[in-house]
Amino acid sequence: MKITNFIGGEFVAPASSAYIDDYEPATGKVIAEIPDSDARDVDAAVSAARKAFISWSRTSAADRSELLLRLADLVEQNLEELARLESRDSGKTVTLARRLDIPRAAANFRFFATAILHQSTEAHTTDAGALNYTLRQPLGVAGLISPWNLPLYLLSWKIAPAIASGNTCVAKPSELTPLTANRLAELAVKAGIPPGVINIVHGYGAKAGEAITTHPHVPAISFTGGTVTGARVAASAAPLFKKLSLELGGKNPNVIFADADLEQAVTTSIQSSFANQGEICLCGSRIFVERSAYASFVEKFVTAIKRLRIGDPSDESTDVGALISEAHLQKVAGYIDLARREGGTVETGGNRINRPGWFLEPAVITGLGCDCRVLQEEIFGPVVTITPFDTEDEAIAFANSTRYGLSATLWTRDLQRAHRVAAAIDAGTVWINCWMLRDLRVPFGGMRESGVGREGGFESLNFFTEAKNVCVKL
Ligand code: NAD
Repeated sequence: MKITNFIGGEFVAPASSAYIDDYEPATGKVIAEIPDSDARDVDAAVSAARKAFISWSRTSAADRSELLLRLADLVEQNLEELARLESRDSGKTVTLARRLDIPRAAANFRFFATAILHQSTEAHTTDAGALNYTLRQPLGVAGLISPWNLPLYLLSWKIAPAIASGNTCVAKPSELTPLTANRLAELAVKAGIPPGVINIVHGYGAKAGEAITTHPHVPAISFTGGTVTGARVAASAAPLFKKLSLELGGKNPNVIFADADLEQAVTTSIQSSFANQGEICLCGSRIFVERSAYASFVEKFVTAIKRLRIGDPSDESTDVGALISEAHLQKVAGYIDLARREGGTVETGGNRINRPGWFLEPAVITGLGCDCRVLQEEIFGPVVTITPFDTEDEAIAFANSTRYGLSATLWTRDLQRAHRVAAAIDAGTVWINCWMLRDLRVPFGGMRESGVGREGGFESLNFFTEAKNVCVKL
């Protein structure tokens, strides 16, 4: 399959006529070719988006809402096909794509389609002498850059609020997982979204991505990806004073106190450690267990991990699919070797599966302290560490011992402690006795090197609009 860019409502070949191979993680085979786009393609997409902005920004919220709802319906009607495409392209299990990625992509369009119908702005009378009111206006062309781990979900998380609030956009999906973005473009045409409102440019980050972040007519960049890339995006965008939202990496703590419901903590921690092969920015990769419950937790957790079925992501009974690429598998396996060199014990897993594709057994590592590289650096794969702690203060210090601050999970039945520890951990999201429960109205984002800015609900709508103050003398 050869896919093209989607610019001004047309499917067009890249200016360079060059293509990049797209691999299927479960087989290691090429399944598609995608445009190797450059600044010329981005320029064409920005021109189309600027042209479309003139009428789209004046389209009523009710009409924009209706079009987005149609797109949400189409995503839902094509759920099975999209889930299979996403699974094939990313290596995630089809069951996860069907349960999480695609329904949430539809939910993103539906949420922002209806949120714009309920927006209001503020007005202030100033000593009865003047009236100030806030006018919220779309920014223009939004540059949207997303990673490979939750391809359609994260792309729609950006496209939906950007266009719902009257912007047009140029979106670049990850070069590793382009297929559902391409299908979304087809569905956008079917939904009747006007040409140029959504433009999709495929290609490498350093070429197509950087052409978006440095483009003078793209005033806002919403980026989700790694922290190193985020720093580069920030450096490109800063001299042009672009509005910037950065959702970056994580090294999230999962803190389990001895009074927790241990069975539930084990069951959910299997998900929070290994869902999507550990390739979710919100996975809890550092588990800390209060010493009195440590041995019991490790025993139950390791026993349960050994039962996970690893293999063909399209098989309904598979729990753990394939990693995204050979390079990523090598990186993750390298950290398992590093854990041994740092003095850790691999309690289970860590071996490559002897079959084509990029499969690695989920690995559980004990015996390492918080200052080890394995507990400091984002691995972004099926590897967790388990470390005991003695006091609440120590648990908080361990949780806060990295440069990241994306999310955290706490397990305790002590109400006061739950709130106290949640407030003390530096993370944008803290889950108590649960994981990955999402409400699209809440702010989402990271602290420290996990990101800048907040997305979600009205935070996203605010990001994609300019707040202008109008002052009228009475
Ligand atoms: P990545 O940073 O390598 O790439 C992300 C996107 O940026 C891709 O589309 C890529 O092509 C593009 N890109 C690369 N270099 C660029 C440049 N110089 N200019 C502009 N764009 C560029 O990340 P990845 O490997 O695709 O994704 C994994 C990372 O994403 C992990 O670190 C993970 O924690 C993070 N992530 C964060 C969140 C969050 O919400 N905080 C969500 C998902 C993933």
